[in-house]
Amino acid sequence: MDAIKHLQGAVRLATVSHSDPYQTDWSVFREFGEFLAEAYPLIHEKLELQRINDFGLLYRWPGSSEEKPLILAAHYDVVAATDEDWEHPPFSGHDDGERIWGRGTLDDKGSLIAILEAANSLLEAEYVPPYDIYFAFGFDEEVGGELGAQEIAKYLLKNKIHCRYILDEGGAVTEGKSMGVEPDLAVIGIAEKGNNSFRFLFHGEEGHSSIPPKSSAVGKMAAFIHDVENKPPKLRMTEAVEVTLKALAPFKSKAEAFVMRNPGLFSPILKKVLLKNKQTAAMLRTTVAFTMTEAGSGHNVLPRTASCVANIRILQGDTVEGILAYLRSLGHDFEIAEEIMVNEATAISDVKGEGMQHIKDTIARIYPDTVALPYLMVGGTDSRYYDKVSDNAYCFLPNKLSGKELDTVHGRGEYISHENFFKMIEFYSDFMLNLR
Ligand SMILES: [Zn+2]
Repeated sequence: MDAIKHLQGAVRLATVSHSDPYQTDWSVFREFGEFLAEAYPLIHEKLELQRINDFGLLYRWPGSSEEKPLILAAHYDVVAATDEDWEHPPFSGHDDGERIWGRGTLDDKGSLIAILEAANSLLEAEYVPPYDIYFAFGFDEEVGGELGAQEIAKYLLKNKIHCRYILDEGGAVTEGKSMGVEPDLAVIGIAEKGNNSFRFLFHGEEGHSSIPPKSSAVGKMAAFIHDVENKPPKLRMTEAVEVTLKALAPFKSKAEAFVMRNPGLFSPILKKVLLKNKQTAAMLRTTVAFTMTEAGSGHNVLPRTASCVANIRILQGDTVEGILAYLRSLGHDFEIAEEIMVNEATAISDVKGEGMQHIKDTIARIYPDTVALPYLMVGGTDSRYYDKVSDNAYCFLPNKLSGKELDTVHGRGEYISHENFFKMIEFYSDFMLNLR
């Protein structure tokens, strides 16, 4: 089967991205582009391909009208993996007859190949979409997407190409049990928190530890961290969480459903329940997580400075500036020494819009008896960069995944079942064929 061979070929190219671009082996990324050209000659004949920043691949499939185009996005970089504890090595693309093994099969080469397989069959059938479809393939999503997706979005902006919506990776079809409901849920991301990292610097007196001052740089830093962890940013129910609750309501008991349909009224109860789970708790507030600290060079020397890095995920309604002002208001004496990453929260996409409806309709055909569930993504995808060039962004990976399978993403033993892979091709074919 060609589709399987193509996915295997894609997985075997170890396109591992690194935060430091000098550590990345770019020759493999070049090979990946060449591999696609060889695997899909018809696509490369009929679609225009623009290489953005060398490795970003932006395909334009010309449609029959000048109406606003849409974007299907995926990324072909992967996180690193060693052979340890993998049943089949991560870059083997091994096919055991039921599953294709390897890094990227789920995140996100599986989707990229499925999109191209679907387009290839539609081209063979001489299908012309009603308007332009872009395939936007980033190459550094796992490390922030600044070289890939961000540059592709800039190119679209510069060329005044504005899209109706983008469909990118994100939620999947999962068992409803995790949300306490019977049917399977097709979880569609409609907004992303803003992902930020700052380094906070604290000053102290240098000197010998035998004659310490009243407060040290390390002590000041520790007090700050302790304070922030005990006084996190305010809880808030956003529209993105309200639509999730409303979508789940029909599957709950009468009393629960009533509460979920009226989140404004019952916000104190709902907050209490949602706070019990780390995942849902993160949807209720801007979170601050301290991830790195640095101070000192000797066990008996007082350091002049101490610093810590906080990863801050901004909730819709908050701003980066507002949260920094909040942290300053706690009264600790720090400087912001480094802005490692700065991103505001994205807008919340229209849950009643044309794009959402089309995704839902496609889900209903390919995954019948599944309930579409819009939700706020606490993790990030490339799609956030398309805010300015697209009316809406939806994040959905058309795969049915068990909890165990979800754990293999960025973990050990990642694979995609044949069934999932072919369903995904079917999903994208149906999606593109039935555009209105
Ligand atoms: Zn991904």
